[in-house]
Parts: sequence; structure tokens; C-alpha cells
Amino acid sequence: MPIDIHNDDLKTALNELKAREDTLIQLESISKLGSWEIDLSTGKAVWSKQSYIIYGESEDVQPSLELFLSHIVPQDLQEIKGKINQVLTTKEVISDKCKIIRNGSEIRELYISAQTVFDKNDKPIKIIGTTQDITEQVALKRHTQELSNVIETSSNEIYIIDSENFHYLYVNQGACDALGYTKEELMQMDIYDINPELSKENAESLRNSITEKEKTLNRTIHKKKDGSTYYVQSFIHPIRYNNQDAFVIFDIDISKQIEDEIRLHEQSQLLNYQANHDSLTKLPNRSLFQDRLEQSIASSKRNKEKFALFFIDLDQFKKINDSLGHHIGDEVLIESAARLSKTIRNEDTLARLGGDEFTIILKNISNPKDAAIVAQKIIDQIKLPIVVGTHQLYISSSIGISIYPDDSQAKENLLKYADTAMYKAKEEGRDNYQFYSSEMTAFAFERVVMENSLRVAVKEKQFIVYFQPQYSTATDKIIGMEALVRWQHPQLGLVPPGKFIPIAEENGLIIQIDTIVMEKAMEQFVIWYKKGLNPGVLALNLSMKQLNEKDFLHKLVDTMEKLDFNPLWLELEVTEGQVMNNPELSIQKLHTITELGIEIAIDDFGTGYSSLSYLKKLPLDKLKIDQSFIRDIPDDEDDLAITKAIIALGKSLNLKLIAEGVETEAQKEFLVQNGCEQIQGYLYSRPIPAEEIEKMLETNEI
Ligand code: C2E
Ligand code: CA
Ligand code: CA
Repeated sequence: MPIDIHNDDLKTALNELKAREDTLIQLESISKLGSWEIDLSTGKAVWSKQSYIIYGESEDVQPSLELFLSHIVPQDLQEIKGKINQVLTTKEVISDKCKIIRNGSEIRELYISAQTVFDKNDKPIKIIGTTQDITEQVALKRHTQELSNVIETSSNEIYIIDSENFHYLYVNQGACDALGYTKEELMQMDIYDINPELSKENAESLRNSITEKEKTLNRTIHKKKDGSTYYVQSFIHPIRYNNQDAFVIFDIDISKQIEDEIRLHEQSQLLNYQANHDSLTKLPNRSLFQDRLEQSIASSKRNKEKFALFFIDLDQFKKINDSLGHHIGDEVLIESAARLSKTIRNEDTLARLGGDEFTIILKNISNPKDAAIVAQKIIDQIKLPIVVGTHQLYISSSIGISIYPDDSQAKENLLKYADTAMYKAKEEGRDNYQFYSSEMTAFAFERVVMENSLRVAVKEKQFIVYFQPQYSTATDKIIGMEALVRWQHPQLGLVPPGKFIPIAEENGLIIQIDTIVMEKAMEQFVIWYKKGLNPGVLALNLSMKQLNEKDFLHKLVDTMEKLDFNPLWLELEVTEGQVMNNPELSIQKLHTITELGIEIAIDDFGTGYSSLSYLKKLPLDKLKIDQSFIRDIPDDEDDLAITKAIIALGKSLNLKLIAEGVETEAQKEFLVQNGCEQIQGYLYSRPIPAEEIEKMLETNEI
């Protein structure tokens, strides 16, 4: 039919048709969907453009049912022919999948739908249908299926959890097998149920640590349904799963590896133990001893501590071994080792160097005397009879002692010197200890003796109190006195405090000594006041150890009440060094004392390292300028400057000032000129017994 191009309506309709056809072609191409029809009367077919593409045919070719069938793979041919017959007998749409060969070799998968069109007499006239190329979809589906099979059947545990609550979204069979739960059970749980170490808090930080990259947890514990546990290594990735943020976790059971590791570790520990210990006594051997000695040197150097090295030799051991046999000898060594280890502390090292030679590293001793005490204990212990079978054996020991760092700082020397000292002990007739340096033996001995007799002194109150007056330069009158202890030793006579106070500080006897002095001095003051004399304020030296005693305050108050002593007569001297040792505690303790109306003076001021901020917080009344600054006045420029500075500091803090150790007029003059008006020292009086003070008080009308 000729087209009337002037007919606008037709033109529009044609354009529209063309446009629809184009759209259809495009849609078919997008969906890889071709359409076709077969005229049943002629057997000829019409294919859409996409159909040609699907079958790989050129558009010049006349399509037909035969052409279609020629593409079907032989395996599918029978079935397709059957389907065609089926289509012809029904008005329904019939669909089926089949494979075709394209371009001679390429296998494609198709999804074909067809329907027969009948005329009004129900005679079939044509078949129409669509063909969709589903090769890629099928492959993808198969691939996905294969992958999920791999995941599902993997013997590793695989989980998917939601990133919010850590609920399980998926668990594989491997996980069920490992944990002993069924899939249904696990899907009701979250990861806290099987990770006993995981808390909500550390889960939070775990969540934050899983960023883009994989997160590996090298060792986590899983708890099975039966309660038993095992170790896994976990790999965690963030993923999207079912439209939500999730984590996929791959867990590998590493229990076996860890068991192996532990076994290996135990084995190497055992080997290590054997290499470092003596098999008979189980004590460290020479090699471990050398290590420990090195360590002790390093740590003592760091902490500025002393340690003692003992070299111990059993005196009659060789005789026992030779006459009674090795078996008995071994028992003696074992028993001796046990006794030695009883005498030392955990942190000390006892080693057996070989034969009957033992060494001890005695850590952190404050004084050679400490070593002497332990040595004596060892000697006493070893001397006790050793019973082996029917034998009762007696041995003794000779001990040589070297001290780090006094004798040497070198490992080899310390051992050599202790050895040398041990031979000295043998020469001294065995059954004794000797220090490498002979002065130390004497000194340690003196300390031990001193300590013992000091204990007796405390028990028997062998102390007397001397008083040293303190003067006001303005009036030249006594304003108070310092009580200074003297030890009235039955044999040695009067022992000055410098000889025993440091020892008493160290062993704690200072507390009892100070209490004795306090009572005696207060008693004396009460007597004087009752006689109408005026000794002023009693200055008592008090160790911080005493102040820190729990019931000190009670004791002080009780004593004052018992003796009728007025708290306003009392001033306590504590040294700057002791106060600044623990300033916070001192502030607290001293406050409780000043609340009673008792004054506090800081003794030996200038020798400790006061911080200004603490000085301001301490409840102080007085600074006592240390005598070391006064001694060289007026010759030493530095001392002049320091003394002036201390006076200025005291004044700015509103404290009273007293100078001690004033021996000359020149010193007094300098102090007065610079504003320190209270003075204590030989210039006025030495510390003297109470009777002499009393005479002074009576005659001087103070
Ligand atoms: P300290 O508290 O600094 O006492 C002052 C010391 O200086 C006293 O020595 C005193 O005799 C001495 N001294 C006083 N004036 C002069 C002087 O002009 N020149 C010289 N060269 N020395 C002077 P002392 O009595 O030997 O006491 C020594 C230290 O023993 C005291 O030093 C004190 O720290 C302590 N001490 C004494 N008695 C006691 C006590 O009962 N308890 C406590 N905890 N310590 C005490
Ligand atoms: Ca003092
Ligand atoms: Ca002093």
C-alpha cells in the first residue's frame, strides 16, 4: 500500500510504531530476550533481532523450526521435540530450559517459553514465544551454590554475625561439629555464649577495630556445649549479609598447636632446670649462681644497695665421705642444703658450687652486721647433729663473706674474696665466719654486741637525761632546755648518743628509748616547776618512727596527765630529714600534736631538702638552724649566706628561730645582727646533768 506522506496522522502513527520497535529491540537486548513466531501452515518462522543474536545467526538467514532444532544439543533434542508436541495441544504457556550450540562450539543455556495461537475453529495456526539466554545467570547460580557448599562443608568454623548485637546470622556445619550444638541451637545464640573471654566491653573495642581490613585474633577460647574449651585463631571481615552490616568469622582450631607449644615449653623448662640445678640438692648450680650474682650486682647498683656473698664450706665433710661412703655423704649434703635454705629469705640465692661448697647471695643488707647475724645462724644450724640411718653425725661450717660494693664491684673478685675469707675462717679454727676485710669483721662484731647490750639497756633503763639550756639573747635568760640522752653503760661508762641512736633508729629500739627520755625529762620539769623554778620549755628529740606509732598520741597524753606535766611546757624536735622523708604523713601527724598546744621545732634545719610548699603546710613553730652552718661563722662565706637565708626564710614563714652549736661570741653576734635571737651552745652551757641545771636555775634567778 503506497504511503501518503501528507497524511500527518499516519506519519505520526508510523513514527510511533518505529519508536516502539526500537524500544522493544533495546529491551530485548537488555534482557537477552528474543521473541519469535512460527507459521504452522508454511513452517516459516520470524525471529526478532535478539533471537538472531542468541542463536548466532545472520539476519539474512530465513529462520525456521528446523533451523532452531539444528542448534539444540543432541542430549536435549528429544525432550524439546516432545515439548513442541505438547505446546500444539494446549492453550497454556509451556516453558523449558535447553542448551544450544552457537557458532559451532559455544554452549549457551536458554529458557524458552511458547504458546500456540488457534483460529476460531480451534485449529492451531502459529506458535509464538520467547527465548532468553540464561547462560550467565545459570553459571552464577552454580558458582554461588558451589561456594556455599564449600563454606557449608568446610571443617573450619565459619560464622556470620550481625555487627550490632553479635547474633548469629549463619553458622556452617563445621561450627556445629566443633561446638556440639545443632544449627538451630546456635542460631538462637550470640558469640558471647561460646567466647567466655569476650565481655560486652571488649566486644565494643573489637567492633571498632574491625575496619576495612581483615582482623586476626591469634588466640581465643571457644566453649563447647559440654563445657570443655579449645583454642581457635579467628579471622574477621566486615561484609554485607542479607542487607545488613555483618562480620564473617573464620575460625581455625589451634588447640593442637598450643598443646605442642606448651609441651615444648615444659620440656625446655625441664632441660633448663636440669642445666641450672644441682641434681642432688636441687639447689641452683654454679652456672645459675653466676647469673644470679650478675643480676644482684646490676640491681644493687641500680638501687644503691649492698649485698653479701657467703662462701660456705662444711668442715668435716671429707672425713665423713671417705669413712662412711658417698651415700651417707649425699644425705649430709641434702640435710645441710635444707638447713641453709631455712636461714635465708626468698629473695636470697643459695647455690651449691660443687662438693661441700655452698654460696649465698644475701640481698639488700643495710649493714655488714646483718650478714654477721645470718652467718652465725648458719653456723648454729649446721652444728646441730645430723642423723643418717644409725649414724649421728657432727659437722661444722666455715664461712667467708665479701660485701658488694665495699670489697669489690666485680663478680670474679667478690667470689674470690669470699673464698679467701673462708680460708681465713678455716685458719681461725673452723666453725666461724670471717669477712674479707678484717675491719668489717670487727665492726660487724661490735654492732652485734652493741645491739644486744642496747636491748639490755632498754630493759634496765640504763639511760640518763642531760639538759642543755637555750637562751634568749635579748634578755640573756633561759627560755627552755633540750633533753639529750646519755647511756650509762655498766662497763663502758657514759656513751654519747651518736654511738647508739643510729643503731636504735635502725632496729626500732629508738621508740622505747625516746619514751624513757620523755618520762624522765618530764618528771624533772615537774619537780622544777613545783619548786618554783622556771626551766622554760622542754625540747624533746623525737624520732618520726615514734610519731608514726599508732598509740603515740595516747601515750603522750597519758604520760603528761600521770606526771602532772603541762602541755604548754613542751616542744618537740623532729629532724628536717625525717619530716621530709614522708611529708604528707608528717603533716597529718604533726597536726594532731599541735592541737594539744604542743610546739614543733624542725631540728637540723638546712641539712634536709625541704620544699617550700611543704614547709608552708607543716604546723611548725620554730626552725633550728643546724650547727654545721654555725661552726665556721664568721669565716666561711657560704655558711654566712646560708644562715642569713634560713633566718630570712623563717621570718617570712613567721617562725621562731634558734641556732644550735653556738660556741663563740662572734657567732652569737652574727646571729643576733641578722635577727636570730635564740641560742643554744657551749657558749652558754654544754648539756649537763639535772643537778647542775638546778643549781643554775636557783642561782641565776632566771
Ligand atoms: P641534736 O638534736 O642536734 O642535738 C644537739 C647536739 O649538739 C647534742 O649532741 C649537743 O651536745 C651538741 N651540741 C650542743 N651545743 C653544742 C656546741 O656548742 N658545740 C658542739 N660541737 N656541739 C654542741 P648529743 O647530745 O651528742 O646528741 C647528738 C644527737 O643525738 C642529737 O642531735 C639528737 O639527734 C640525738 N639525740 C640525743 N638525745 C636524743 C633523744 O632523747 N632522742 C632522740 N631521738 N635523739 C636524741
Ligand atoms: Ca635536737
Ligand atoms: Ca640538731
